[in-house]
Amino acid sequence: MFEKALPLLESYFGYSAFRKGQEQAIHSVVAGQNTICVMPTGGGKSICYQIPALILPGTTIVISPLISLMKDQVDALTQIGIPATFINSSLNFNEANERMREAKRGKYKLLYIAPERLESYDFLEDLNQMEIPLVAVDEAHCISQWGHDFRPSYRHIQQMIDSLPQRPNVLALTATATPRVREDICHLLNIDERNTIITGFERENLSFSVIKGQDRVKYLQDYLKKNDKEAGIIYAATRKNVDQLYERLRKENINVARYHAGMGDVDRAREQERFLEDKASVMVATSAFGMGIDKSNIRYVLHYQLPKNMESYYQEAGRAGRDGLKSECILLYSPQDVQIQRFLIDQSIDRSRITQELEKLQQMVDYCHTENCLQEFILNYFGEEETEPCERCGNCTDSRTRIDVTKEAQMTMSCVIRMGQRFGKTLIAQVLTGSKNKKVTELGFDRLSTYGIMKDQGAKEVSDFIEFLISQELIAIEQGQFPTLYVSQKGKDILLGKEQVFRRETVQVKQVSKNDP
Ligand code: ADP
Repeated sequence: MFEKALPLLESYFGYSAFRKGQEQAIHSVVAGQNTICVMPTGGGKSICYQIPALILPGTTIVISPLISLMKDQVDALTQIGIPATFINSSLNFNEANERMREAKRGKYKLLYIAPERLESYDFLEDLNQMEIPLVAVDEAHCISQWGHDFRPSYRHIQQMIDSLPQRPNVLALTATATPRVREDICHLLNIDERNTIITGFERENLSFSVIKGQDRVKYLQDYLKKNDKEAGIIYAATRKNVDQLYERLRKENINVARYHAGMGDVDRAREQERFLEDKASVMVATSAFGMGIDKSNIRYVLHYQLPKNMESYYQEAGRAGRDGLKSECILLYSPQDVQIQRFLIDQSIDRSRITQELEKLQQMVDYCHTENCLQEFILNYFGEEETEPCERCGNCTDSRTRIDVTKEAQMTMSCVIRMGQRFGKTLIAQVLTGSKNKKVTELGFDRLSTYGIMKDQGAKEVSDFIEFLISQELIAIEQGQFPTLYVSQKGKDILLGKEQVFRRETVQVKQVSKNDP
């Protein structure tokens, strides 16, 4: 059966060869094995179930949380002559019924559904009357509490599968699985972990960089001027930030569109269209924008503020360069954004996940402070081990010299230890810089031998240096109501003089614009 795969790829999709991982995934599915396929955004996951759907008899069910994506996918399939449809909350009762009636008659090769459907008894009854060889679970990380987008309705998938008269195969697909999430998906969907197909997460055409200590507005203006012929996305943290940036750029005659969940459906659709059809070159948006957007010529994705975790970051940044041409992913870092994200996490309803979310946020902050290869940092985060520096990112191409900061690292860590490893970054920086702050004196920290040993530096510089030590895993964080710092084993080796620490010469911090949204 598998021999049919390549001719189908050519005749329906017009591609002459499979991409990395696609062939194995299709092979595994067609051979009747439950399979998990982990590929980066833009890697070509859809083909991995669309081709099997054509090869296998009956109707393949595709479960996806993305309503907007369903319609686009179904339209695209219909256009190339593959019978497909979707059923989700955008349809009224009669429309949904009609489609289901056709589905039961075997009209479609693919039926896309939102996971919430699985909660309806009638719907499950209908599925019982269909021939279903394969269930494809898109965005499969939504099934895991450890993922970044847990959706309880995903937990009904296995029940649905169990209730079918003929057991279908399962293909789980995700772009953002850490080893822990992967294990969870396999466990919950009954997939043998040996049937994991994971293609490298490296995107060779993307170059990552983190910009710190610069006037963001000015940076953005210069960047957009230099790249005015290119399409790009600017992600901002809140709706208000998006609106402010949008107005500012519009006043500068930049052809800009905007997108966030606070806008009406019609406005949003119009703005999205303008961007997709190259009528607006820049899209300013919150993270609500981009799921299921297939625009291949995005040359840059610029994060105006820190995202909440690496999964979100790589997914958003990964929307650049889907056509394989060189593209940039830039993150503008400012320490106060960490506070905003902490605040948002604190506000979230699910109290049981707060510590985990804070840890993820910290890894995002570490990304901003590491001086090692950024692409490698990302790959390691997603569980790839044998990686090499990319030679493209902001850190790999940084020509500043590395200076020995072992002594400063030792001073900082011994201060952390002397303070009892019970305090946060701010207080530690205050002690090191000899602050007369009430809390410092009340706790008697002005009597420590490490009090004021870095007083030639500003509290902000020292605070940055502590972040750097955290990113190097010399200092670790205990998440609680307030994060507290302690010295890791690796840090202790530095204290004992077993190893040295190097850091790039720091740049002068420039004034931050007053108008910064
Ligand atoms: P993902 O779901 O992994 O983000 P998609 O399935 O949307 O990725 O595919 C991303 C893009 O790559 C689409 O434009 C798709 O048509 C294209 N694509 C997929 N497979 C191939 C292939 N074998 N050859 C060329 N282009 C492909």
